[in-house]
Amino acid sequence: CTEEEQSEDYLFKVVLIGDSAVGKSNLLARFARDEFYPNSKSTIGVEFQTQKMDINGKEVKAQIWDTAGQERFRRAVTSAYYRGAVGALLVYDISRRQTFDDIGRWLNELHTHSDMNVVTILVGNKSDLKDLREVSTAEGKALAEAQGLFFIETSALDSSNVAAAFQTVVIEIYNILS
Ligand code: GDP
Ligand code: MG
Repeated sequence: CTEEEQSEDYLFKVVLIGDSAVGKSNLLARFARDEFYPNSKSTIGVEFQTQKMDINGKEVKAQIWDTAGQERFRRAVTSAYYRGAVGALLVYDISRRQTFDDIGRWLNELHTHSDMNVVTILVGNKSDLKDLREVSTAEGKALAEAQGLFFIETSALDSSNVAAAFQTVVIEIYNILS
């Protein structure tokens, strides 16, 4: 392609979804600012951060949206939250089975409010909590395969795989759209 096309700006909207307290806000804090909050308060309403990433030597901006998992905040923001999203991180907590059991409901919501082609990664967060694990890696992988999702386990606490989780989604979007 031409030089003009190469300097084109890419801005991809990516949403974080999953139950309350699975670590969505801390994944974003770790990725965008390399910070972690041991006792973070629930996110109220919606916020987003724009993160520059380098994909194949090109500057890509990911606009990453984060919201509260609580029902009482969700209803009002749902449509605006998903509108225009091309990627999603669907997060559960490997130390709380309920958050994994709820993934199907989050997938339904995602598919109701956004394009079926939204690039989605299933993220098993809190991999540092080895002794408290309630969901095996194999179970996570199996669900992801059955639903056609990417899969990764992360820890916002010790940073493992956090950048990889976001990069997997953004690289795939980039490959599809470019
Ligand atoms: P959100 O409601 O999904 O945004 O979850 P938060 O990011 O607010 O995190 C909820 C709680 O889990 C906070 O006390 C965090 O410190 C903690 N937390 C988040 N990520 C991790 C992680 O990877 N490992 C551990 N051990 N705790 C985490
Ligand atoms: Mg939050």
